[in-house]
Amino acid sequence: MKMLWLSLLTLLMLGQTLVMGLPVQAPDLPTQPNAGPSEADQEFAEEYLRHFYGYQPKSERQKRTADTSEDADWKTGLCDKFQSMQRFFGLPPSGELTLETLAVMKRPRCGLSDVERFGNTIRWKKNTLSYRIAGSNLPISASKVNKVFRAAWKLWSSVAPMEFRKRNRKEADIVISFLNGDHKDGSPFDGKGGILAHAFLPGSGVGGDVHFDADEDWSFNSTGFNLFAVAAHEFGHALGLPHSSDPGAIMYPAYNFASNYELQLSFRDVKDVQHLYGISPNFASLFSKKPPPRTPDKCDPDLSFDAVTELQQEVVFFKDRFMWRKHPQSDETGITLINSLWSDSVPPFLDAVYENVERNEVVFFKGHQYWMLSQLKLKEGFPRNISDLGFPSRIKSVDAALHFRNDRHTVFFTGHECWKYNEQQMMMGGSPTLIEQVWPGIPAPIDAAVLYEGFVHFFKGNIQYKYDANSKRVVSTSPANDLLECKKHHNEILTERR
Ligand code: ZN
Ligand code: CA
Repeated sequence: MKMLWLSLLTLLMLGQTLVMGLPVQAPDLPTQPNAGPSEADQEFAEEYLRHFYGYQPKSERQKRTADTSEDADWKTGLCDKFQSMQRFFGLPPSGELTLETLAVMKRPRCGLSDVERFGNTIRWKKNTLSYRIAGSNLPISASKVNKVFRAAWKLWSSVAPMEFRKRNRKEADIVISFLNGDHKDGSPFDGKGGILAHAFLPGSGVGGDVHFDADEDWSFNSTGFNLFAVAAHEFGHALGLPHSSDPGAIMYPAYNFASNYELQLSFRDVKDVQHLYGISPNFASLFSKKPPPRTPDKCDPDLSFDAVTELQQEVVFFKDRFMWRKHPQSDETGITLINSLWSDSVPPFLDAVYENVERNEVVFFKGHQYWMLSQLKLKEGFPRNISDLGFPSRIKSVDAALHFRNDRHTVFFTGHECWKYNEQQMMMGGSPTLIEQVWPGIPAPIDAAVLYEGFVHFFKGNIQYKYDANSKRVVSTSPANDLLECKKHHNEILTERR
C-alpha cells in the first residue's frame, strides 16, 4: 500500500478532481510520502462503501473490542468492499484506501448503489410510459429542459420498443424533478458535486421517478454538469437498468461526459435494455450503418492499440477513448476512460503518446496536432501543429513515439520512416531514416511502441514485437495484448452472465 501512496501520478490526479469543485472537503494530501489516508478520508471512504457497495460496519462497541490491526479490516469485510469498488472502477484491487481510490470515490456520480442486481423481473409491464416534469425548480428554461429530456428518452426508445409521452398535469408513470438536500425519500442530496441525481426502479408510486440535485450547475454543454448525459443515465434506471462497470456504458455510475465524444448508448447499454424490453422494430435500420460502440476487450485476440506509453511506473495502453494502466504492483489491469485522468484535454482515438520524464510532460498525437500536458493539465498554446516539432509538411500524422530518457531523445515513427528528436535542444535531428535500416525486422508502418523492461515493444495489429536494441533484432513475437494479463474481472464475468 505504501508504494501506491508514493505515486506522483495519483497525487496529480487527485489535484485534478478537486478542481471540479466537490462538496466533500479536500482530502488531506500526505505531507510525508508514506503518510496514510487521514481519518476524515477513511471515514468518507467507509461511508462511500456503505452507500454504494453494501458495506455494513460493525457497531462502534464491537469496533473497540476488535484489534486495531489491518487484520481487523479484513474481518469486518472492509477490504473486500474496497476490492469490489476498485475492480468496478478498473483500479488495482489492493483492498486499501489508496490516493487514487480516494480520488475516484470523490468523482461526481449517480446516487444509486453499484452492487444491487435488480434481476430480470423489475421492468415496466407496458411499452408506453408517461412522464411529467414536476415543480418550478428548473435550472434552465423549461423548453430547453423539455428538449433535453425528449432527446434522452429517444436514446432508449430507438433501441427498445418503448414510447415515452410527456404529460403536463395528469398523473404520470415517471415524475422528474429537481430537488435540494433532504427531499424526504430517504436519500438526501449533498449540495454541489458528489451525488448528481438518482432514480427509482420501475413500479407504482415513486417507482420510475427521477430526481436531479437542484444544487448542481446544470448545463447543455461541458460547463458544470451536462443535463443530457445525466438524464440519459437516470432514465436507464427508471427503465430498470442497474449500474455497469463498463466505462463505455451510459450506465457507468461516474459522471463521464466528454465534449469531444458524441453521447450515445454503448453496445452494453443496448444489450441490457433489449434484454428487458426486446428490440425496437427500427433498430436494425437505425443502427445498420453505425452500430452502438463496443468497449474494447483486453482479451480480444484481435485487439490492437492506438498508442502505448510509459507513465511513471506504469505502462498505459490506449484504444479509442479507453486505456488500460498496467501497474507494476498489480496483476489485474482494469480499463478506464482516457478522460478519467486527463479530462477533456486529450482527444480519443490517439495516434501516439510518450512521456518526457525529465520535463514531467506527457505528449499526445492525433493527426497533424499534438497536445502537451504537464501535471495532467494542457499547457498553454496547445494543441499545436506537428510541423512545430520540425516535421516537413508532407508528414500528416505520427504513428508512434519512443522516448529514451537516458539519451534524452525521442524517436517518431511515420510510415516507413523514423525521426530522431533531440529533447535537450528541442530540435529534430536532420532527415529521417528508414525503419528497416534502424530497426530491422520491424514491419512498417507500426501502431505503437514502448520501452518496457529493457526491450522495445513494437505493436502492429494484434501482434507485438519484442526488440533488443543492442543486438538489433526481434527476440520474440506475441499477441499484442500479452502484457495486459488477460484475466477477466469478476464484475465483467458477472455482467456477461446476466
Ligand atoms: Zn446510476
Ligand atoms: Ca450533489
